[in-house]
Amino acid sequence: MCETDQPTLEVDVHERLNSWARCSVCKQKAPNYDRQPERRFEFIPVWGIKVFLLYAPRRVNCSCCGVKVEHMPWALGKRQITRSYAWYLAQWSKRMSWQEVAEAFHTTWHHVFCSVEMAVMWGREHQDLSDIKSIGIDEIQWQKGHKYLTVVYQIDQGRKRLLWVGQHRRTKTLLYFFRWFGKERSAELQNVCSDMWRPYLKVIKKKAVNAINILDRYHVMAMISKAIDKVRAEESRQMKADGLEPLLTNSRFILLKRPENLTDKQEIRLADLVQYNLRSIRAYLLKEDFQQFWTYISPYYAGKFLDAWCTRTMRSKIEPMKKIAKTLRNHRPLLVNWFKAKGELSSGVVEGFNNKAKLTMRKSYGFRTFRGIEIALYHAMGDLPVPKVTHRFF
Ligand SMILES: [Zn+2]
Repeated sequence: MCETDQPTLEVDVHERLNSWARCSVCKQKAPNYDRQPERRFEFIPVWGIKVFLLYAPRRVNCSCCGVKVEHMPWALGKRQITRSYAWYLAQWSKRMSWQEVAEAFHTTWHHVFCSVEMAVMWGREHQDLSDIKSIGIDEIQWQKGHKYLTVVYQIDQGRKRLLWVGQHRRTKTLLYFFRWFGKERSAELQNVCSDMWRPYLKVIKKKAVNAINILDRYHVMAMISKAIDKVRAEESRQMKADGLEPLLTNSRFILLKRPENLTDKQEIRLADLVQYNLRSIRAYLLKEDFQQFWTYISPYYAGKFLDAWCTRTMRSKIEPMKKIAKTLRNHRPLLVNWFKAKGELSSGVVEGFNNKAKLTMRKSYGFRTFRGIEIALYHAMGDLPVPKVTHRFF
């Protein structure tokens, strides 16, 4: 059928003769009441031709719910698109950005969003949460300014996925997670990886009663890098003010990179810099030294190393580094826990997830709301189940 300049295929749908409809609320059969005007439901396109189901829904007089629209298995509430089409769009949204899906199938961004939202809601209702032993808690900045998300991942060797997303990074936020996760499952947790954010540590201690709390490597090293950056910036400014040669200009990346990742040119530059007894360089060397911490096997010797490193750093007279040493000292038991759980956790998991989350948020640009980001993250990283009858690509 040709309605506009674009060809569309329209399929008339009729109920079986003398059949009773089901109430859309309780799904029970009920006597017919009246009929509503015809509606168009968009189905999966065939060879680029849009397909619509045309049907005039009946209303039923349900004995428990009153007069209601009948249940239509293909419909998605009041939406214009059918359930099958929504699953189809949702599947594609895993491979392309939402905008690209909308363009590819000549539909709107809003329809794509609704489809992904439906898939996520179904998946979260049907996901299996048994046997989760290790979780990682992270925070991600979103939008500009100080808006944070709290994200919780499962980080077991056998299964890694996003479990939960919450707005903000307050005590309350993480409490919401544990409420959702349930008391029983929380008690079965063995490892909880987190950074040093105080509200998190407090809640973990209270709610994951049988788990050991581990400060993960990624967050600790990121914290030290930040301190080095601060030292370098301060020193660079100071040297400029003193009229000294701007030695440290453009040295930022050299100091933040691991030595094995440096280019030849950068390596020479670093060797050059080391000759000067600069605070930035000493801070850098302290960080490189700290890498050794993660290579220990015995918690006891790791602890010894940590103490020695902290003592040395406290004597360095470099304020931002001293602050790090103090923080690490205060969290000594949590740091040493890393070695108790080693083998069960892979170290890069939280970092990998963190990168993927940021990428997802960037790719699904056009989100201004928490709901949009939440849905996108669950869809991309939740490893959610799909129904068996979902429309497949082939
Ligand atoms: Zn009913």
